[in-house]
Amino acid sequence: MSVGVSLPQARLHELRAADTAAHKKHFHQLIAHTPLLEQIMRDAEFVPGSLKSLRDYAYRPTRLTVGRCYLVGDAAAFVDPINSVGVVFGMYAGSLAAGAIERSLRESAKEERSRALFESQYGARLALFRLLAVPHSEQYLSPEEIARARQVLALSSSRERQLMLLQSTMTHRSQNLAPVLTQLGVTEVPEHSTLALPDLT
Ligand SMILES: Cc1cc2nc3c(=O)[nH]c(=O)nc-3n(C[C@H](O)[C@H](O)[C@H](O)COP(=O)(O)OP(=O)(O)OC[C@H]3O[C@@H](n4cnc5c(N)ncnc54)[C@H](O)[C@@H]3O)c2cc1C
Repeated sequence: MSVGVSLPQARLHELRAADTAAHKKHFHQLIAHTPLLEQIMRDAEFVPGSLKSLRDYAYRPTRLTVGRCYLVGDAAAFVDPINSVGVVFGMYAGSLAAGAIERSLRESAKEERSRALFESQYGARLALFRLLAVPHSEQYLSPEEIARARQVLALSSSRERQLMLLQSTMTHRSQNLAPVLTQLGVTEVPEHSTLALPDLT
């Protein structure tokens, strides 16, 4: 079982300065204070030397396909553990790749086109989620990638756009998305109460 913990940068710096034993103690305390994890891991044995820390965890691919190999999920890119898109994104990419491979097997003349379509659809979604989740991502995205993210936004429903704007505002990352949404005419951050969200209780 692999267990990850996301920490504010300042806390991570403090822990890095501390010795490994303090690092490990803090990790175990966090698990003990998280009831579900504590329950699942009650009989688990810690693997010595397995605790590692990492910053700037977001990574992106230079290519999404290599010949007949399609990259999906974390093998392709990682955006943000807090944004909670990893699993949905992995499944989205898997289904896009399956469609492209199926078309290629059925009509080999369409292989190149299917691959290009996969790269374009998946790449555009990745660009949008980087824009939504990675601070100052406008500095790292090329104008072409921002244009592709804008295309995805243009095809999204107005509710989806409003929710994305709301989310980016809640995490202080609206400076990424706001200019793109403004071009599409979405400027108002909706009040929570005006969005009839499903009752999840
Ligand atoms: C701290 C943290 C919190 C997260 N929180 C969320 C969240 O709340 N919501 C969300 O949607 N996503 C979250 N994610 C992201 C999500 O976990 C990943 O994006 C998702 O699991 C990726 O799925 P995957 O199938 O691509 O890769 P994985 O789930 O990593 O699956 C890859 C599998 O391949 C196996 N494997 C590796 N090498 C080999 C090999 N050589 N041979 C055979 N098998 C191999 C691995 O053991 C693993 O089981 C979080 C990630 C982290 C790190």
